[in-house]
Amino acid sequence: MFSLVSIRTRLFASMLLVALALISVVYVQIGSKARSVADDVVARSLSQSNNIMDTRVTSRYLFIQEVAKGLANDARLRPLVYEQASLTLQDISEEYQAVYEFDSLIFLNSKGVVIARSDQPDAIGVNLSGRTSLFDDALKGKVSRGFFSSKGKLMQTVVTPIFDNFATDLVKGAVVLAYELSPLMAKEIFELTQSHIGFFTFAREWVNDGVQITGVESNYLTDTALSEELDTYFKAHETLWRSVIAAQGESVQADIHLPSYSESHLHVWLKPIFSNDGLPLGFVISLRSDAQLRAPFDTLRQSILVDGAISLLLASALALLIAISISRPIIRLVDVVKRIQSGIYIDEDKQYLAKDEIGTLHNAIIQMSNSLQEKAELEAYLAGLADEVVDESGLLVLPESSMSSLTQDLDETIIQLPPSSNETLIDGRFKLLSDIGEGSMGKVYLAEDIELHDKLAIKVLDPKLCALFEGFNAKEEIRLARKITHRNIVRTFDFGTWNNSIYITMEYVEGYDLGKLLKRKGALELNIGLALCKQICTAMMSAHQLGIVHRDLKPANMIINRQGIVKIMDFGLAMQVQTQNQPLSQTDTYSGSYLAGTPRFMAPEQFSINAELDERTDIYSIGVIMFTLFNGEPPFKGENLKEIADLHQNAPMPPFDKARKAIPSSLVAVIKKATEKKPQARFQSVKDLYEAITFVQS
Ligand code: ADP
Ligand code: MG
Repeated sequence: MFSLVSIRTRLFASMLLVALALISVVYVQIGSKARSVADDVVARSLSQSNNIMDTRVTSRYLFIQEVAKGLANDARLRPLVYEQASLTLQDISEEYQAVYEFDSLIFLNSKGVVIARSDQPDAIGVNLSGRTSLFDDALKGKVSRGFFSSKGKLMQTVVTPIFDNFATDLVKGAVVLAYELSPLMAKEIFELTQSHIGFFTFAREWVNDGVQITGVESNYLTDTALSEELDTYFKAHETLWRSVIAAQGESVQADIHLPSYSESHLHVWLKPIFSNDGLPLGFVISLRSDAQLRAPFDTLRQSILVDGAISLLLASALALLIAISISRPIIRLVDVVKRIQSGIYIDEDKQYLAKDEIGTLHNAIIQMSNSLQEKAELEAYLAGLADEVVDESGLLVLPESSMSSLTQDLDETIIQLPPSSNETLIDGRFKLLSDIGEGSMGKVYLAEDIELHDKLAIKVLDPKLCALFEGFNAKEEIRLARKITHRNIVRTFDFGTWNNSIYITMEYVEGYDLGKLLKRKGALELNIGLALCKQICTAMMSAHQLGIVHRDLKPANMIINRQGIVKIMDFGLAMQVQTQNQPLSQTDTYSGSYLAGTPRFMAPEQFSINAELDERTDIYSIGVIMFTLFNGEPPFKGENLKEIADLHQNAPMPPFDKARKAIPSSLVAVIKKATEKKPQARFQSVKDLYEAITFVQS
């Protein structure tokens, strides 16, 4: 399904998805970071509140104890306690309240009966003994401390015994001094830790003869607005405060949800308060929401959403642009390839400028299209030609009149070889089927290898020629020629001797040699000619790469097959001929006549004895061949070798035949440069020449 969507849409969508994913990841990440940071801070603040609470309570005990001790030893008070002077004591305790700011000061007689109580005068006469060890211990002569709850308040209390003046271990009464867990203390802790602090007392009821805890009620909370909500909450969540009772003095931690904090977690620590007898009295609550802590993160998240939306818009615009720019050349390529598929070749040769992979692909496809077109043109051209000259055997044969190649125009060839006949068996292996052609060095036949049942071409050298070149090292030459395997070079197989002459076997190419083609058709069309030239160049590039110079390049040594592929032949043989370097004065001898086929295409330096020949020699010959291809006739037409040599060495390239259709000046320039008299003025490699030809085409 995905492949139905165009590459442009896919690119666009994937870039957009990446942007979207990035923004979402950041958004989620910040959320979870906020959560963990907030949790951390909240936990720390709550534990801090608890610690502060503990130290406050401890230091408060010390203070209360000091005051209580002072009162117990007060010389003015003690007689009043001994005498149980309730009224006076009540007055004094109310007086002291203003000084010490306690919440309750109680005087007990030795029986534990209240003789004065600052906060509840009507409690006088109530017996407090036997209720809690807090009082009972003091009545036994021990200073005791602890909590008791009174009217829903949690009282931090110290009880000090009052002894007899003389019998110093006789308890005459006790002073109870109590300070409630006060709003002041809670506020102080809130200021320090930002955690709200509250005090809750358990409601108790006497059932049968035991105490039962029936509920919980708040008596103070720093966040006053919240205390009612918390009361409701605890009513609904009994298990929470019951767990405080069960926790055996440990603090209980929990996360709770209240309507006012619907958006965030409310973390609570509940610290239980027991009486000295292990009776649960109430608890201190510390609570903190993470809303405040998470607020900055939330604003950050909000702005990420807004900025994200904006950048997503920008990103989509950018993604669209990028998608278009990446996909445009691909889409164009698809178009190009489709057109090639339907046989329409691209004549635009505009190079895609980007040097990236797509650019390279684009250029390669355009190049491929161009060469396909060239090939198609060549094939069509050759097919047209074939219709004219197919004989009944099905082989492509040119009329007798044109059988004489260019080489034979200049000098007569001396060939004394047998005509082919089915009886002739060369070396007991190659059955001659028909004549293919004759050249200056011998005759070429189509033959059948009767051992391999394969058709091949066999060239039998003239025995006289073989005799002349005693040093002819055919082995070495075949070895060299066989090194080159290229689709534009005729493959050489082997050599042997037969009837005093040497023969060479090679790949049989069905087609025309270029010499014959020119003879028959005259100059080639520009496109056809350039396509052939490029093939000649690629063949020679690979030969030169192996260090092999042909030295006898000429149209007659190039065969074009039906598919329009040029194949160059006679590598190696030419070298041998050239290394003989026969003096030019001997043109009349036999050696002169074998050279006669080549001079029209020979480089100036080839006419000198002992001249250094290299790839530039071949470049000159290709230049002359190019001239011949487009002109129909070779440039220099001397009567004899000497004349031709002189023309090659001294005469400028003649202008093209007037009748020829316009030859681009760039092509004339390429030919001129290839055929410079001095090798160093020519193209220095076939590759350069090839590129110059490609340039002519564009
Ligand atoms: P030259 O000496 O002029 O180069 P060659 O003896 O090499 O002549 O070849 C003579 C002719 O035989 C060529 O022009 C070509 O038409 C034909 N010929 C030579 N070799 C082959 C081959 N391998 N396949 C087909 N035709 C060939
Ligand atoms: Mg030849």
